[in-house]
Amino acid sequence: MESSQVERRVYITNNSASILKDAYAQLFIVLSDELKNSIYKENLSWILSDIEFKYLFIELLIFDKNPFFTLDPMVLKKKDVGHVFFTNTPPKYHFDLGCEFLKSNYLNLQIPPEINERGSEWVAKFRKFSEENKSVFEEDQERFLNMLEARFNLKNRPAKVNFMNSGRSDFADLDVDKMEERIDRHLADSRSFMDANPKIKNLNYASAAKIKQRTIIDPLDEEWHSFYKKELKSMLRYYLRKKADPELSYSKSFLDSLGFEGCKACGGKLDLT
Ligand SMILES: [Zn+2]
Repeated sequence: MESSQVERRVYITNNSASILKDAYAQLFIVLSDELKNSIYKENLSWILSDIEFKYLFIELLIFDKNPFFTLDPMVLKKKDVGHVFFTNTPPKYHFDLGCEFLKSNYLNLQIPPEINERGSEWVAKFRKFSEENKSVFEEDQERFLNMLEARFNLKNRPAKVNFMNSGRSDFADLDVDKMEERIDRHLADSRSFMDANPKIKNLNYASAAKIKQRTIIDPLDEEWHSFYKKELKSMLRYYLRKKADPELSYSKSFLDSLGFEGCKACGGKLDLT
């Protein structure tokens, strides 16, 4: 990743990073050998499918403007998908890594189906009550859910939604060299597993969702997808991001061009002129 000295770097939450990734996922990306080789020091075509390569490549695209892959800002417009704390404001970037809005887990709550069934008036009431008691929600979710159940006579406890990737494993804290050691070890284990079970080769390119749809799931396929491939993809995501920029900073002008706005909480403290 290139970054010029004068370019201001900013930070975004995992939730905002997901918005960017989803937007890139809608682009058509030609998966050349060159692109595949840019993912790791060896070609991983034996274990990753094209769609998996695409999603990993997107991890490299989100930090800076890329002349070959241009995003349409319209694609980034947030959509209300039925969550309680929905704000129709543009996604934010942060100037300060210590900003509480960057660090705080981004929690949300799905509007319960039984409230949706009662109609839009009840949905509005539900949102209003939740908004008024948001501080309880942030401090003690058990208490908040009890309050909701009592106020709205809910029979089914609402599902909590946490957009933040809580899976920030110890792996994320390793430096790039140590990450490579772990990935190499995992690749060696995966190869042994594949050699011992050659028939999984036929299923390597089936998506995990497709495999789950089958009436009879071969435990070997399940293990291959749900452990060996999944673990590798997770490690590669952290690895690629750390290699691109250990601080996980983003180009401010790139985010500006997509309609992001600066966080007022941490932007206000700085002299931005
Ligand atoms: Zn901030």
